[in-house]
Amino acid sequence: MHPTRRSIFRTCSCLAVSSLLCATAFHPASAQAQQRGASPAPGAASQPQSTLPAPSEALLTEIEGIYKDIHANPELSMQERRTAGIAAEWLRKQGYEVAEGVGGVGVVGVLRNGDGATVLLRADMDALPMQENTGLPYASSKTGIDPANGQETAIAHSCGHDMHVAWLMATAHILSENRDKWRGTVVALFQPGEETAEGAKAMVEDGLVRRFPKPDVVLGQHVMPLAAGQVAISSGTILSRSDSLEVMLFGRGGHGSSPETTVDPVVMAASAVTQLQTVVSREIGMTDQAVITVGALQAGSSANIIPERALLRLNIRTFDDQVRERVLASVRRIITQQAELSRSPKPPTFKTLSTFPLTINDEDATRKVAEALRERMGADRVQPASAASASEDFTVLARAWDVPSVYWLVGGTDPDTYAKAQKEGRPNDIPSNHSPEFAPVLQPTLRAGIEAMLAAASPWLVSGQAHR
Ligand SMILES: [Zn+2]
Ligand SMILES: [Zn+2]
Repeated sequence: MHPTRRSIFRTCSCLAVSSLLCATAFHPASAQAQQRGASPAPGAASQPQSTLPAPSEALLTEIEGIYKDIHANPELSMQERRTAGIAAEWLRKQGYEVAEGVGGVGVVGVLRNGDGATVLLRADMDALPMQENTGLPYASSKTGIDPANGQETAIAHSCGHDMHVAWLMATAHILSENRDKWRGTVVALFQPGEETAEGAKAMVEDGLVRRFPKPDVVLGQHVMPLAAGQVAISSGTILSRSDSLEVMLFGRGGHGSSPETTVDPVVMAASAVTQLQTVVSREIGMTDQAVITVGALQAGSSANIIPERALLRLNIRTFDDQVRERVLASVRRIITQQAELSRSPKPPTFKTLSTFPLTINDEDATRKVAEALRERMGADRVQPASAASASEDFTVLARAWDVPSVYWLVGGTDPDTYAKAQKEGRPNDIPSNHSPEFAPVLQPTLRAGIEAMLAAASPWLVSGQAHR
C-alpha cells in the first residue's frame, strides 16, 4: 500500500522500535542544507518567512517550571484532572474560550482571530502505570490505583506527554500574544487517555464536532528518541495500527505434587506464548510487517498449587488491514488449539482491551507542514520519518470531522548521546518511550517542539503562507 514508505523502512539501518526513525539516511534536504552551509544551532531557529516569533527566554523559563511540575505529578489515563486544570487556567489567562470536562477531563480552548482557516493543535496528557528510574531532580514518586487491575501502581511520564502539554501551552501563549501576526481560529485541544485509546474517542462522543469549530487541519507531535532539536515527518502511514487483547486460559486446579489430577494452565499458557512466536516468523510474508508481544502472563501464587486459570495480555501491531485480520485469526487459532491440546475444560475467552487506528498523514497538508518546518527550523533539522510500530488515537479527532491531519516526531535525546550511540552502532541502547529511563533533555527539546508547532500552523494562519 505504501511502497515508498516500506522501502525506506526496510533499508533503514536503525530498524528497531526504539529508533523509530531513520536518523540521517535518505536525507537529501539535510545534504543540501549542509552544502549551502546552512546549519543553525539547535534551538537557534531562523524565521525566514514566518512572522510568529520564537518563544522568549522568559516564556521558556516559565514553561520549564510548568513542565517539571507536570512531570513530577503525572496522572493515569482519563484521570488527568490536575494537568487539565493547569492547561485550562493557562488558556483562560491567554484569552481563549475554554471548555473543560470534554470527554471526561479533556480541555478545548478556542481563540478566534478574524476570518481565516481553523487549525486544531492537539496534546495528550496522560502518564503510564510504571516506576520512573531517571534520577532526575523532578522525577515522579507518585502512585495511584490503576483502573485496569484495581492495584496500586507507580505513575510516570515515561512517554513524554508532559512535554506535549508544555509545547502546546507555550504555542497557545505565543499565538495569543501575537494576534496581529495571524488570522483565523486556533483550537488548542488537551486530550486525556491516549495510552488506553479512550481519550480521543471520549471527546468525540462528548460532542466535539458539534460543540467546537471545524478545523481545516489537525496537527499533533510526539517526543521521540531522536536527537533533540530535530524533527521527523513524512506523508502517508506514519504510525501502526494496534490491537490489545486479554485472553483467559482455563485449567483445573490441584496439588502441585499430583499434576495427573489437574489441567495445568501454566504449561498451557507457556506453550501458547511459544507457539505465538511462529505467527510472524512462519505465517507473515517478508514484504509484510507485524509485531506480536505478550506483555503480561499471570497465573498462580504458590509453588505447590496448580492454579485454575492463566491470563495473557497481548499487543499486535500492523500496517495493513489484511495482515491485521490474518494475525488476529492466527492468534485466536493458536491459543484455542493449545487449550484443546492441553485438555482445557472450556475454551479460552478473548477480550479486546484497546484498538488504535493507523496514523496516516495527509499528503498535501504534510507537504505544507514539512516546507514550513524546513523554512523555520532549517532543512538540516527536518528528516523524513519512517513508519513506526508505535500507535496513536490522534487521527480519531480528524476522522470525526473528516479533515486532514499531520503528525510528526520531535527529538528528545541529548544530541551528543544520540550521535555517540549512532557512531558506536548501538542506537537501541537509547532509552525509548515507555522505558523507565526515558528522560527528554529539557533544551533544545522544549524550544524545538514549540517552534515546530508554530511552523506547522503557519501555512494556515499566517498571511501569505496559505495554500502554497
Ligand atoms: Zn506511550
Ligand atoms: Zn505517547
